[in-house]
Amino acid sequence: NNDTVSWVRGKCIGKGSFGNVSLGVDKSDGRVFAVKSVDRMACIPSQLEALENEIRILRSLSYSSSSPYVVQYLGDDESYEKTTSFRNIHLEYLPGGTVTEDHDDVDELTLRSRIWCLVSALKHVHSRGIVHCDVKGKNVLVGHAPGLVKLADFGSGKGHSMFDSGAPISPRGSPLWMAPEVVRGESQGPESDVWSLGCTIIEMVTGKPAWEDHGVDTLSRIGFSDELPAFPDRLSETGRDFIQKCLRRDPTQRWSCSQLLEHPFMAAAAPDSV
Ligand code: ADP
Ligand code: MG
Ligand code: MG
Repeated sequence: NNDTVSWVRGKCIGKGSFGNVSLGVDKSDGRVFAVKSVDRMACIPSQLEALENEIRILRSLSYSSSSPYVVQYLGDDESYEKTTSFRNIHLEYLPGGTVTEDHDDVDELTLRSRIWCLVSALKHVHSRGIVHCDVKGKNVLVGHAPGLVKLADFGSGKGHSMFDSGAPISPRGSPLWMAPEVVRGESQGPESDVWSLGCTIIEMVTGKPAWEDHGVDTLSRIGFSDELPAFPDRLSETGRDFIQKCLRRDPTQRWSCSQLLEHPFMAAAAPDSV
């Protein structure tokens, strides 16, 4: 479809709010990867800005050792296809869909393994001075084994220098997964990702967001009440305790990813193979 790059665009495999994700095939070796693209002419400026932001963050994450639980960044380029020009990110292709799609088939052992991968990914990201800001089921992709998942979508992410300046913040991410302090516009640090992780675990069990969407009313319950989302009955007592450690309203009382990896729910939870 185009002669300017060394790969061919294949079928569409995902649509988000910012990018269009398709398969890409390398012309020389037939290798398959995922391509997240923004059409330069048809997009609104914030879409291109999110893609450029994602590229900066993925580059900074790829400088030193990478995590097997973060979707691997393979590079970025521009392509000219018919009359349009695309800005593209090349990513490792994950074949298993998102964790929200297959929640019904997942037993607690697989669930624990998935959570272990996700906490490990976040620990890595946080140790590199980055906050993901959009942890939710649609951004967690299933790999080659059911217990192996990887964190994707760094379009809303931010770097260390932007944590905690003390000034009011503009919340990033998806409202139903936002931590109370984020909804209130106070701060958005690594602890805020842990709250979103708690909401994501509930979503991984039920297939639905932790909070029902009633618009502004829900946001005021998240930000300004004592309420917590309902914990799924299907989960063991240990699992429910784990969620509780993520969903502490006071961000200073919330467990860090390092602490969460030591929680009994994570004992022997690591996947067998990467
Ligand atoms: P957005 O920022 O628009 O939400 P995402 O990066 O989350 O974009 O990608 C949108 C969707 O595309 C994901 O929810 C997923 O279904 C699919 N997708 C994204 N990256 C990959 C990948 N590397 N492998 C397979 N599917 C992917
Ligand atoms: Mg996404
Ligand atoms: Mg995004």
